[in-house]
Amino acid sequence: MRKIKPSKIICVGLNYKDHAAEMKMPIPAEPVLFMKPPTTVIYNNDNIVYPKMTGNLHYEAELAIVIKGKAKNVAEEDVEKYILGYTCANDVTARDLQSKDGQWTRAKSFDTFCPIGPEIISPKDLDVNNLSIKAFLNDELKQSSNTSQMIFKPSYLVSFISRIMTLLPDDVIITGTPPGIGPMRAGDKVEIEIEGIGKLTNKVVSGEY
Ligand code: MG
Repeated sequence: MRKIKPSKIICVGLNYKDHAAEMKMPIPAEPVLFMKPPTTVIYNNDNIVYPKMTGNLHYEAELAIVIKGKAKNVAEEDVEKYILGYTCANDVTARDLQSKDGQWTRAKSFDTFCPIGPEIISPKDLDVNNLSIKAFLNDELKQSSNTSQMIFKPSYLVSFISRIMTLLPDDVIITGTPPGIGPMRAGDKVEIEIEGIGKLTNKVVSGEY
């Protein structure tokens, strides 16, 4: 896929019913949002760099929405024309820093913490509300769910976020992770696979810093 130039990456926390049950967390009444900087983006077969600042680096399999056109205050029924397509994402997270800091910016924002790919698939070619989503660590299945488990659907999320901030072409929304999140180590291979999109593969390497 071509390199994208997002102005921002908007992320949704706790958006799978089965993951909320796993975490013993109540179903949120509104989407919980946070952001990653554009410098986190890498692509298929690029390396995830394990920073020295963390001792607990996690994978999170997520469906990513890539925005096509400038979108502000878009109604849910009109969102499709603003969507370039869907791809796989890994919301790489320094879990220890997430709890230590009490907010998520550092834990989510290291360079290489947003692998996306392998291709962007048009909304016309996918039933985005019914796709299997999986994560494999060294070929072992770790996460397995379906986008039907989402609390807030992609169309709702685009509309909701567009009522907060203007979405620009190439902006990315990552839509939350299903159950089964866990740690990665240097040398590991991590793969995110979504039905109809393909498989995003990245290796973890030790960082110098
Ligand atoms: Mg996430």
